[in-house]
Amino acid sequence: MHELSIAYDLVEIADEAARKAGAARVRTVHLRLGAMAGVVADALRFSFSIAAGGTLVAGAELVIEPVAVQVCCDVCAQPRVLEAPFVFRCPVCKQPVFTLIQGREIQIESIEIEESEAESQAESEEKLDETTPS
Ligand SMILES: [Zn+2]
Repeated sequence: MHELSIAYDLVEIADEAARKAGAARVRTVHLRLGAMAGVVADALRFSFSIAAGGTLVAGAELVIEPVAVQVCCDVCAQPRVLEAPFVFRCPVCKQPVFTLIQGREIQIESIEIEESEAESQAESEEKLDETTPS
């Protein structure tokens, strides 16, 4: 299952970030998921909970932010959001489009961790710029 290997990558990145930050555990992982990434969000959430077992990510929530497919229409010379992910036509002038701007990302946006000695509800966010290999 394709989602499972992606889930393991995400868990590894989050686990490593949490360890570096000296966190007790990861609370939430925020992910940007392109409509054309070829990943089923529900399957990824399920795989994530399996992959997280035995790591600092165990029990963490995976929050998926869907990213629409955006293209550049050469005719309009404007960025456009596709009406359907796999129909490569400009929604305005109806001409075929060839340039993808976004929509394939599987990208960790941020990770919320729980500090190890925190009795307070201190929350810290780690910003990452890492894209998992597809
Ligand atoms: Zn157009």
